[in-house]
Amino acid sequence: MYSGKPRKLLHERNIRVGDRIAVEKNGIRYEGTLMPRPEIGDAACIVIKLDNGYNIGIDCRNVRISKLTDEKNGREGVATGTFRMNKKNPQVSIVTTGGTITSKIDYKTGGVTSLTTPDDLQRKIPRLGKFAKIRIENPFNIMSESMTPSHWQNLAKVVARELRKSEGVIVTHGTDTLHFTAAALSFMLRDLNKPVVLTGSQRSTDRGSSDGFSNIICSARVALSDMAAVGICMHANMDDDYCIFTRGTKVRKMHTSRRDAFRPINDIPLAKVWPDGKIEKLQGVPPRKKGAVKLETSFEPKVALVKFYPGCNPEIIDYYLKKGYKGLVVEVTGLGQLPTYGKNSWIDTIKRATERGMLIFGAAETIYGRLNPNVYTEGRLTKEAGLIHLQDMLPETAYVKLGWVLGQTKKPEKVAERMLTNYAGEMRDRTVMGTFLV
Ligand code: ASP
Repeated sequence: MYSGKPRKLLHERNIRVGDRIAVEKNGIRYEGTLMPRPEIGDAACIVIKLDNGYNIGIDCRNVRISKLTDEKNGREGVATGTFRMNKKNPQVSIVTTGGTITSKIDYKTGGVTSLTTPDDLQRKIPRLGKFAKIRIENPFNIMSESMTPSHWQNLAKVVARELRKSEGVIVTHGTDTLHFTAAALSFMLRDLNKPVVLTGSQRSTDRGSSDGFSNIICSARVALSDMAAVGICMHANMDDDYCIFTRGTKVRKMHTSRRDAFRPINDIPLAKVWPDGKIEKLQGVPPRKKGAVKLETSFEPKVALVKFYPGCNPEIIDYYLKKGYKGLVVEVTGLGQLPTYGKNSWIDTIKRATERGMLIFGAAETIYGRLNPNVYTEGRLTKEAGLIHLQDMLPETAYVKLGWVLGQTKKPEKVAERMLTNYAGEMRDRTVMGTFLV
């Protein structure tokens, strides 16, 4: 743990990791909880977690350190590990599923390894307790790359149950596949009556730069708002000032590491949200309503998302057909094309597969924009062969929707009709200006 000068200073004042302390340096006073020192950090520094949740390292030369008594502390729970809520606050359920947002640094290796308990999550964000009464549910703990449709089904059931108990529900989740889960909940929770807010964190909550705290605080603000929608609430920009809440079917992780990685696609955010509770709606969102949410969780797992690339052989479709897959979403080029001549022509394969009952849909591999198969001959022929173009729907959303629709019906005309029916804002009739790279 601490050694040298920091250890001596802390020892003299009987300060242990977890104690709430004040540190004065260069005329500035910092108050926070003493954290363990990462083994790979500067040995002359101590690390404290500030009240805003961020960790900072302070060089112990020329500092004054004091231990704060519980009275001076003024903030329940931070030092002792207990978390007290004002029971009169409106209740928000937090459903934790794993991922970086509920992970912590292993101070020996510096890597993100162990999962915190739900209690840890509450303790880390005492500010939440000021305006919300928190209930925690933890159906499973996994990194989001390990999510499967059966996790979505399980989660939808847990969220529906929590919606009956609380004013709104937050789902904390790994960011890598967060937008798939957001789409799944958007389809599976029918007649939504309250907000369902998915959030994650690009940096673990033990890092000074973690986005997790303000993401959760803004998510709780949305969960208590008058927006009955499923969406993702994460940082709006590289600063820590506000978040955006974006429709669960029109959002995608667009960066490996930036805190503002979740961007609306072919859409604008539903709202901007500030940690102090200010919410600026950017488009019409259905308000809360009476009645219970209906669950439609059936899902056909034999569906796949295939990305076309130059040289891609159409026999990939035969593979899925042979394996008993019922439907495919193909990421098609440009306005909706695939090769129509030469040995890699997809036309005969699409015809053969659709005649044998497989349903094949196209979504734009450009991610942004709307398909229009009528512009190029290659698009027209692809359409005539049986591929159905899904307008401005995101490929990931289309994949989730296809599994969900096929879970309800296997009748080809019904599946086609439902895939082109708007259930959760996944398609827009017209292209909205100002939605590119926002
Ligand atoms: N791989 C992690 C996950 O998606 C990353 C994260 O949590 O942000 O679960």
